[in-house]
Amino acid sequence: MRALTVQPSTPGSLRIEDVPDPEPAAGELLVRGLAVGVCGTDMEIVRGDYGWAPPGQDRLVLGHESLGRVEQVPSGSTFDRGDLIVGAVRRPDPEPCGACAVGEWDMCRNGRYTERGIKELPGFGSEWWTVPERYAVRVDAGLGLAGVLTEPTSVVAKAWEQVDRVGGRAWFDPRTVLVTGAGPIGLLAAMLGVQRGLDVHVLDRVADGIKPKLVRDLGATYHHTSVDRVVDRARPDVVIEATGAGSVVFDAIAGTGSYGIVCLTGVSPRGRDLTVDAGGLNRSLVLENDAVIGSVNANLRHYQAAAEALAAADRDWLRRLITTTVPLDEAASAFDRPGEDVKVVVTLEDGVV
Ligand code: BGC
Repeated sequence: MRALTVQPSTPGSLRIEDVPDPEPAAGELLVRGLAVGVCGTDMEIVRGDYGWAPPGQDRLVLGHESLGRVEQVPSGSTFDRGDLIVGAVRRPDPEPCGACAVGEWDMCRNGRYTERGIKELPGFGSEWWTVPERYAVRVDAGLGLAGVLTEPTSVVAKAWEQVDRVGGRAWFDPRTVLVTGAGPIGLLAAMLGVQRGLDVHVLDRVADGIKPKLVRDLGATYHHTSVDRVVDRARPDVVIEATGAGSVVFDAIAGTGSYGIVCLTGVSPRGRDLTVDAGGLNRSLVLENDAVIGSVNANLRHYQAAAEALAAADRDWLRRLITTTVPLDEAASAFDRPGEDVKVVVTLEDGVV
């Protein structure tokens, strides 16, 4: 079968190659790959800046935002042939740490977790893949290709859960959220905010194009000014930060009101210096009981929440997030696209669009 592979730490090593068909082990589903989404992490891996091949191998099958169709189930399975599913990205560390032991591998403490398509496990960017049943999540069949948004939605479902838990430490009745960044993560975070009945504001650099339109069609407010100005106007109770841009991060932290919660989801490159008023920042965090939290990855309950949120969302709107689809043969072009795209998807089966 064909697979999209890369040699981690080696820029320019992306290629489509023939690899052996996978054989499902006991308790595993055999899945026809339909599509993989491309995100910033994949771009980093392709640039040679991130990613690890499985131990003893040179190359890694890329792709962690999956969508597949079940073709074969183990006996007594809760899945059926034909089900649309996604596979969870992360696996617990082998020890496992306390968090991994209770299924919260997204909170792994010792860093020995593995991730499909990212860290030491083959990804989902292949025509066939297998997945242990307990790491598979069924998605609404009516979603079609938009089911590939389940993994990024799981990441923001976790972020919202973290906000709720941190907010729950005292009286908490959030009304307004600011989402910084209108990429897939920002837009999906905004969608979950709207589903929660919040007044949602989204800030991005671009003045026009598809992003402002997607935000408005969600019933949210789009801004393309500075964080300070939006924060002054909207007074958000919660900020979901999805740009990873240092100045946006610090402006958001400094700008929240009392009991403000800033949840950081964007990963930034290292080595960019910024001058900040550390004293002023500390002062406002302390005097306002503010909280800043980082959030990465997702565990099964977040995938379930994501699958439910997507099933309840407007199909048309979701489908519009997928601005480009490229077939596996042309996958290289998915990693080399100008900035206008929201979500680029590589399709693994003919006719899946
Ligand atoms: C993925 C997460 C993963 C993280 C770090 C993100 O792009 O969505 O599942 O944990 O990268 O590897």
